[in-house]
Amino acid sequence: MPSGDDRRIEGAGTPEADWAGLATLPAIAPGELVAEGQRTVVVAPHPDDEILACGGFMLRLLEARREVVLVAVTDGAGSHPGSNVWTPGRLARERPRESREALQRLGAGAVDVQRLGLSDTRVAEQASRLLGWLGRFLRPDDVVVTTWRGDGHPDHEACGRICAQAVQAAGCGMLETPVWAWHWSWPGDPRVPWQRARRIVLTPDQLAAKRAAIEAHVSQLGEDASTGQGPVLPETALARLLRPFEVVLQ
Ligand SMILES: [Zn+2]
Repeated sequence: MPSGDDRRIEGAGTPEADWAGLATLPAIAPGELVAEGQRTVVVAPHPDDEILACGGFMLRLLEARREVVLVAVTDGAGSHPGSNVWTPGRLARERPRESREALQRLGAGAVDVQRLGLSDTRVAEQASRLLGWLGRFLRPDDVVVTTWRGDGHPDHEACGRICAQAVQAAGCGMLETPVWAWHWSWPGDPRVPWQRARRIVLTPDQLAAKRAAIEAHVSQLGEDASTGQGPVLPETALARLLRPFEVVLQ
């Protein structure tokens, strides 16, 4: 990131109450974003982004009988640096398991999952592997859903950039989802392309399914006694990710 960049994922971030104005963003039906017969390819940098960013969207797509495929880019082994409790080896085993459990709880257990096994925190360095895989996998009538190119997390931004290149080559569509931007950004922040933002509204049942799915990510929700670090996903983050709608950038 350039120096002077304040898109840091530290502290509590912008409280959800400050984001109340998002409720005025135009709502869109998933069927308008992914037409009948089109396949949705969710490209998740870490095993939880698919739920945090677009769990509700996936659920609504499945309810609209759209095919959804999850591409799990890394195994998430880098979420607890220096930890003796959540070692990289344990995370690499547990986080894919958490992700499978989360999909079950969401009601998306039948979704096809493609695990690529790239190294967590180093997606940009492995861009050619991801680009090559997507080049073989994507079809012109796919819609790729991935983390926003400006999200402020290196792997999230790398996935956004690499997918943008891949969809251009494949001739398919793409939607981007902010995850950590809700932390460092603020309403009206000129760095966010608000004119592209659309709201996918969730019913109370869909939101409850998303909450249950998030709760499957046990490794991300507890304090780490070995490092003294708080949860990767503290309450303040969960409040932002469990609003009754999701935002996609068209
Ligand atoms: Zn992530």
